[in-house]
Amino acid sequence: MIREAMLARLAEHAGPWDVLVVGGGATGAGVAVDAASRGYSVVLLEGSDFGKGTSSRSTKLVHGGVRYLSQGNIGLVMGALRERAALRANAPHLVRPLQFVVPSYRWWDAPYYGTGLKVYSLLAGRHGFGPATILSHGEALARVPTLRPAGLRGGITYFDGQFDDARLVVNLVQTAAEQGAVTLNYVRVAGVTKTAAGDVDGVVAIDEETGLEMRVPARVIVNATGPFADNVRRLAVPDAPALIAPSQGIHLVFDRSFLPGTCGVMVPKTPDGRVMFAVPWHGYTLVGTTDTPIGEATLEPKPLEQEIQFVLETAAPYFEKPPTRRDVLSTFAGIRPLVARGGTSNTASLSRDHTVCVEASRLVTITGGKWTTYRHMAEDAVDAAARAAGLPQRACVTGTLRIHGWDPQADRLGARAAYGSDAAHLRALVEQDPALAEPLHASGAWDAAVVIWAARAEMARTVEDVLARRCRVLFLDAAAAYAMAPHVAAILARELGRDALWQAKQVSAFATLAEQYVVRGDVPGS
Ligand SMILES: Cc1cc2nc3c(=O)[nH]c(=O)nc-3n(C[C@H](O)[C@H](O)[C@H](O)COP(=O)(O)OP(=O)(O)OC[C@H]3O[C@@H](n4cnc5c(N)ncnc54)[C@H](O)[C@@H]3O)c2cc1C
Repeated sequence: MIREAMLARLAEHAGPWDVLVVGGGATGAGVAVDAASRGYSVVLLEGSDFGKGTSSRSTKLVHGGVRYLSQGNIGLVMGALRERAALRANAPHLVRPLQFVVPSYRWWDAPYYGTGLKVYSLLAGRHGFGPATILSHGEALARVPTLRPAGLRGGITYFDGQFDDARLVVNLVQTAAEQGAVTLNYVRVAGVTKTAAGDVDGVVAIDEETGLEMRVPARVIVNATGPFADNVRRLAVPDAPALIAPSQGIHLVFDRSFLPGTCGVMVPKTPDGRVMFAVPWHGYTLVGTTDTPIGEATLEPKPLEQEIQFVLETAAPYFEKPPTRRDVLSTFAGIRPLVARGGTSNTASLSRDHTVCVEASRLVTITGGKWTTYRHMAEDAVDAAARAAGLPQRACVTGTLRIHGWDPQADRLGARAAYGSDAAHLRALVEQDPALAEPLHASGAWDAAVVIWAARAEMARTVEDVLARRCRVLFLDAAAAYAMAPHVAAILARELGRDALWQAKQVSAFATLAEQYVVRGDVPGS
């Protein structure tokens, strides 16, 4: 995962690559792992950083989707529950079971939601993470002591999966690299090349660090650019009708006192007919999300004021001390790449199933779906790509392929659990230089060793890459991330051989970004 070495391999490669993947989110990284582990030659090009798009901005749940059960989409739920089990087995250092409580304040909540959640748990069969059971008032409060006790009749408890989304993208990219793929961040696909017959046979790519333009030939291109998929499709087919109906969702992050235990809370019906989650994550409390149809996807979407209000108002009735905007430590938005079905304005009703679309020019687009189902999506995309390009058919092996960092006992690693087997390398860095273990901020377990590791082994190129996606500080506590930025810039500059001007520009760019993750004022708009 050394960028310069990857660029050299890209330049030296003779002839076309079997599979060229555009986009380094969950879907693109999954496609690269799948195709490389089948033995195809693979290059993955990500225009920004790995996971910069939606794949670092999820609710961090590996789940079947309770909501899709109530929509009657049993096939989608069962498929996702199977994928949940596979991901837990293949990346046990990042995926773990999480117990949820659905608080009940009306007499019919427990029988109604209890039945649904028991069905949900049974559908997982032998892949289940734990049973659903009905809780008394005391049992619900014992699991979530911060629930509003007045009127609480009890609740239902059930289990789902939780993970660190951006770290899983990075580990998937590392896995693809271990399987032989060339993987590059900050290389944007700006155009496609075509044969005389009009088939896409390569891309024009720009190295965003140097501005250098490259032509990369390939037998098949897989467009895995999530909410940006239509932009890339239109490089090949300028008048392609829209496939994506983008929908924004935001989260608010609070300190641990809002959920001091180990259980999450699920609100089964929000005013807009969806579900909302409050989950403990990396020692903080994450609450969300919303479903707001938007016109066009951007890489750094902004939480809307009405979304912030919606999350606060929806959470308030369930907590003894309702969270307020003053309690928000960070807020972030992501864009769902939902598949449009005939111009609907209600994105909450759009299917979370995925779609593989093969254009007449043989460009293969994979989109829709969920993080949880990325592996299955990748399998379908590579099957379609191999057929479209006439590649030798080879079976998918990712059902049981271990993901980089695999360590079934990672919990023993404490603050380094998310690094899994790489925690040993971090330990070795600290043994060589104990000063690297000094915390970079009083609020967290982040130290100089994680920055050095991010630069040397995880292809982090900027302060943002480190603070937003290699360690998740920006998503947890924007002020802490802002305070850490100068120190991180200094370490990165040493590692990457950059000068003082680069360092200053990095700190200033990060300060502007961090501002967007802060909720200001005691009242909306102030
Ligand atoms: C608020 C929210 C909560 C969610 N919660 C969950 C959850 O809890 N569980 C779950 O299973 N799913 C969840 N999802 C869904 C899940 O996050 C997405 O389905 C998934 O992350 C989409 O991944 P992707 O790789 O398709 O897209 P992205 O992650 O957006 O990746 C696309 C990548 O393509 C790159 N790109 C774009 N154009 C180019 C170009 N020209 N050249 C090179 N690269 C390019 C972008 O930079 C980006 O990195 C949630 C989604 C949202 C919005």
